[in-house]
Amino acid sequence: MIPLEDAQARVAASIAPLDPVVVPIGEAAGRILAEAVTAQAPIPPFDNTAMDGFAVRAADTAGATETAPVRLPIVATIPAGAIAPRPLEAGEAMRIMTGAPIPDGADAVVMVELTRADGDEVDVGAEVPVGNHIRPIGDDLPADAVVYEPGELLTAAHLGVLASVGRATVAVHRRPRVGVFSTGDELVPPGQPLGPGQIHDSNRYSLLQLVAEAGAEPVDLGLLPDDEEAIEAALRSAIETPDGAPVDALVTSGGVSMGDFDFVKAILQRLGDLNWMQVAIRPAKPLAFGTLLGVPIFGLPGNPVSSMVSFELFAGPAIRTMLGHREPQRRAQWAIADETFGRRPDGKTHFVRVVARAESDGALHVRSAGGQGSHQLSAMARANALAVLDDGSGVQLGGKVRVLVLR
Ligand code: AMP
Ligand code: MG
Repeated sequence: MIPLEDAQARVAASIAPLDPVVVPIGEAAGRILAEAVTAQAPIPPFDNTAMDGFAVRAADTAGATETAPVRLPIVATIPAGAIAPRPLEAGEAMRIMTGAPIPDGADAVVMVELTRADGDEVDVGAEVPVGNHIRPIGDDLPADAVVYEPGELLTAAHLGVLASVGRATVAVHRRPRVGVFSTGDELVPPGQPLGPGQIHDSNRYSLLQLVAEAGAEPVDLGLLPDDEEAIEAALRSAIETPDGAPVDALVTSGGVSMGDFDFVKAILQRLGDLNWMQVAIRPAKPLAFGTLLGVPIFGLPGNPVSSMVSFELFAGPAIRTMLGHREPQRRAQWAIADETFGRRPDGKTHFVRVVARAESDGALHVRSAGGQGSHQLSAMARANALAVLDDGSGVQLGGKVRVLVLR
């Protein structure tokens, strides 16, 4: 058996971010920036008002109070998107709307709530300082600022920033196409009746969805029998031409254990640098991994929970690396065990399906999500996290345990 970190390092050594592609900013959310973005012009591009009210000279409001206001003539109205017809002179006010440029000559804004307009005059009922409610040019981003470096994960607010610096398109790392197929003579697609000894293929649906959730484009490559020639032909054709374009990675499930019909393992071992690892984890000990014609292949175990845990630990981080994520692994968090998680020393790290919840003490608490067999997918479905039990005798009720939060 090899330690999990070594197995993850072997995988990581063969994975690199995909080339940049230019996409409309509307399609860039969740992607990783593959260029540096600079603000050509300052943001905001001009001094403007943060409030509806009156642009004035602060000095003209000296001594003003609610009961003894200062009366000023209103000489113009400036809506957002317009500019004042002329500079403001001493002793004048201009009506101004949020976002409108501050007129030359003004140095403060009095919000409308502190004023009373009366025809073409306004009573200003408060003394305001210079700069009051003015959002200065460049207050968000100065001109020529490097707004983002490559590697930035783009979120909703980032798209807004890109738009505000005038970018309609942006270079991000290409989204990998990841092909998924299931192997096993016992498998039947859902929707078809089961014969003796048969079960429905469930892994393909879980794994295709995990591919999508990791940010890649899933490609359903179907179900294959336990037939060495058929599996090898499918692997090759997936890498050479699925729907015309090659996949960037392949995920298979089943056929990587010690059984007589575990052909995926046999084929991957025969095809060269692909190697079979016994990883010191439970579930998901066997993993066949390598590259074929430069395409990474993840031969995951067939047990439904094992295939999903293996995906989380190996394929998911690889997809995130291809997408350009700088920290592709999920970060473990500390949680409090709300029950005893017992185990025996066996040289492996155990991943226990748990329900993690932030409780009123401010800490994350975990409980078992149910049956922990690698075939018991219903507990995986109930779980939102994996508790990481290092080799040893487990964690007592109330003890601290590391968790990988999945959802
Ligand atoms: P294997 O890794 O091929 O030896 O399969 C281990 C276990 O997982 C067996 O009980 C298989 O029937 C089951 N299994 C394999 N592939 C799938 C799948 N796609 N969906 C559901 N169960 C599967
Ligand atoms: Mg099998």
